[in-house]
Amino acid sequence: MVALLLFVKCVDGYLEPEPINRIQPQSAAEIAFTKAFFSTIQEISFADNREYCGYIGLNAEGGFAATPAKRGKRNYCVPRYAPRDFRVLASYHTHGAASLAFDTEVPSFDDLRADIYEGIDGYIATPGGRVWYDDAAKQRSVLLCGVKCVTADPDYTDNKYLPVGTMLDLDAL
Ligand SMILES: [Zn+2]
Repeated sequence: MVALLLFVKCVDGYLEPEPINRIQPQSAAEIAFTKAFFSTIQEISFADNREYCGYIGLNAEGGFAATPAKRGKRNYCVPRYAPRDFRVLASYHTHGAASLAFDTEVPSFDDLRADIYEGIDGYIATPGGRVWYDDAAKQRSVLLCGVKCVTADPDYTDNKYLPVGTMLDLDAL
């Protein structure tokens, strides 16, 4: 759950989406890098029950990299600006610890809305270890992989039917 309405233009009272600005298409290598990276920050996100966030992108040498995870709030996290020589592919954020009070196993409406309006795709890791991908161009979230795909909160009890490939748009969220 995050509201990254950093670059939103407000035109005549309506939100005007930024153009999609992806420097290269999503690849299997990008997804693999992102999953491995999430597993390095999930435990701290569970331990203090906060979102952690940043950007996935390419470093100066052209390799996949992630900006250091910033500690956010319980329900949102706004990444620090990426360094000048870091080319952003997508944002990332975690969803804190397993919770009965919030539905943290799916992206929030604001997660997807912010990504659409910023024109930047987003990866989301859940307490159950699921990974979602907000596709800004297609304006939908896709479940890339299921429970325990990345490090999961030991307190998480899975009771959800969410097949890999599940797609949710703003209306569904
Ligand atoms: Zn979120």
